[in-house]
Amino acid sequence: MAFVQRDSVSVFVGLGANLGEARHALETAVKAIDQLPHTRVLQCSSFYRSAPVDATGPDYINAVIHLETRLNAYEALKAFQSFENLAGRERPYRNAPRTLDIDILLFGDASIQSPVLTVPHPRMRARAFVLKPLSELLPGWVTPQDLQSVQSQAIEKLDASRSDDL
Ligand code: ATP
Ligand code: CA
Ligand code: CA
Repeated sequence: MAFVQRDSVSVFVGLGANLGEARHALETAVKAIDQLPHTRVLQCSSFYRSAPVDATGPDYINAVIHLETRLNAYEALKAFQSFENLAGRERPYRNAPRTLDIDILLFGDASIQSPVLTVPHPRMRARAFVLKPLSELLPGWVTPQDLQSVQSQAIEKLDASRSDDL
């Protein structure tokens, strides 16, 4: 990696997929992220099933992970995009169904506005599939009002012991 920060940063990442073996794609992504240099996955939320927002297509499987890394945000983004590509991600149009999506939600207390990266993720507070899993890992960040504002979005927590949910 080109640049490694001295201090590790606490990062929250949203994962989603609604094509192919979605749950398997998320599990593979978590392992791949954990194996990045200077990076350790600390926690993974429950998996959720959610209806697509502003799109058609199959239901999504979503989760949020908490990691610590000494990579900077751009190096992390580059690595995550390579994992999306390895999973066969295609972008035929905005919000198209996808085999894997990895979004940086929070990167320490960084506030980033660049052509390739906006952090905190600008749409995260409007999405039940982010707020619900994130509230498991960072309950103080997600307010009851946040959850109330997305309560019309269809989402269910999956049973960890059942593989036939998908
Ligand atoms: P959304 O951002 O609304 O969830 P999406 O995930 O479908 O949409 P993508 O096609 O995956 O969008 O990504 C489009 C671009 O968004 C990427 O090329 C990336 O440079 C940029 N991007 C900006 N901010 C972020 C972020 N916080 N995490 C991941 N990608 C980001
Ligand atoms: Ca996304
Ligand atoms: Ca994305």
